[in-house]
Amino acid sequence: MQNKHVQFIGITGGIGSGKSTVTRYLRELGYPVIDADALARRAVEPGSPALKAVAETFGDEMLFEDGSLNRKKLGAMVFSDPEKLDLLNRIVHPEVERLLLAAYKAFSETHAVVFADVPLLYETGQEARYDAIWVVYAPRMVCVERIMSRDGATRDYAEWQIEAQMSLEEKRERADVVLVNDDTPEKLYAQVENALEKQL
Ligand code: ADP
Repeated sequence: MQNKHVQFIGITGGIGSGKSTVTRYLRELGYPVIDADALARRAVEPGSPALKAVAETFGDEMLFEDGSLNRKKLGAMVFSDPEKLDLLNRIVHPEVERLLLAAYKAFSETHAVVFADVPLLYETGQEARYDAIWVVYAPRMVCVERIMSRDGATRDYAEWQIEAQMSLEEKRERADVVLVNDDTPEKLYAQVENALEKQL
């Protein structure tokens, strides 16, 4: 039992395609889902070694007075400077990696499959870690409408966010399982159930 391999499934997609909707449903069904964005925030929480390294590398002005990270300021600094972005990634990624593997290990004690919600899974080249990758796909226009209504964003801003990511068509081509979210949530849930049956 102890050496049994616990399946690790990565869930990704594009902004507004329905990742959160899928992972919420998986959690309702009782499956563990690791939230990569939450881990990325935890990696640089006040008092963490990674945040200390960020302040040492980029200056204390990257922190608010309460010691928490000023994400906007740091983001603005690294956005247009690939070298700085690389430096930041080299500080933060190993810590996120450590937290991810620790979470997988903890869930593995009690579950036969563990999911991870990783919005930038392909962009950051993390495919190899997973036994399978599920991509939540929706046509671009549908994503735009959903982002606009979920975030109160303008059409231009929604389009701009989509442009900033790898194309969802490409992710769909690389996926092991594609969940097409262009209809009702119930239709999406049925595909999730189908994928679970086939995969597990
Ligand atoms: P992501 O996590 O990929 O950015 P979400 O799961 O948050 O996407 O979905 C984007 C928005 O669209 C949310 O407000 C969500 O409730 C809504 N949504 C997702 N799937 C559907 C669907 N099949 N029908 C209607 N609304 C949906």
